[in-house]
Amino acid sequence: MSSNIRITRVCQYCGSEFEAKTTVTKYCSEVCGKRHYKARTREAKVQVSNAETKAVLEKPLQEIQSKEILTVRDAAKLLSCSIRTVYNLIDRGTLNGIKFSERKTLLRRSDIDRFFEDAVMPIPKRPEKALNIKDCYHMGEIQLKFNISEKALYDIIKRNNIPKVQQGKFVYAPKSIIDQLLNPFPRKS
Ligand SMILES: [Zn+2]
Repeated sequence: MSSNIRITRVCQYCGSEFEAKTTVTKYCSEVCGKRHYKARTREAKVQVSNAETKAVLEKPLQEIQSKEILTVRDAAKLLSCSIRTVYNLIDRGTLNGIKFSERKTLLRRSDIDRFFEDAVMPIPKRPEKALNIKDCYHMGEIQLKFNISEKALYDIIKRNNIPKVQQGKFVYAPKSIIDQLLNPFPRKS
């Protein structure tokens, strides 16, 4: 590479033109070479740091779910809410927060689970109780009205998961659902 020919090149660090001795000389001076090396090292470090930050931000939910002690950020992610909301829940005493240090609040996974157990609205075990008989047919009525057998009717009820309720000796099912299912041409009244 070395030759007696003088080559004009541009310094990769400071951008100024210089007379290079070889075609691969990158810098006008040793100083620029060192500075550029430093800059690249710094940039590499920043990239590593950014990657780490990204990894923390994108910490998979699975990893959070397996932890017993959570940061507020973890909890927010777990609850799909903002960090502010988690702090609000702690302030209101809805969620237990552990003041780990002046600037760090931690939560226990078990407290969050308990929060849900307490907060979940009870699902009525027998929603059929809510059915109003006035809005229902009894089974015999349905068989007559739609001309189907008892077995066929029960199959339909089972297959479509139609709510039914027993009152006295009759079993009832909602007219609206039965009409919709069994009457393809509902009369307009
Ligand atoms: Zn230079």
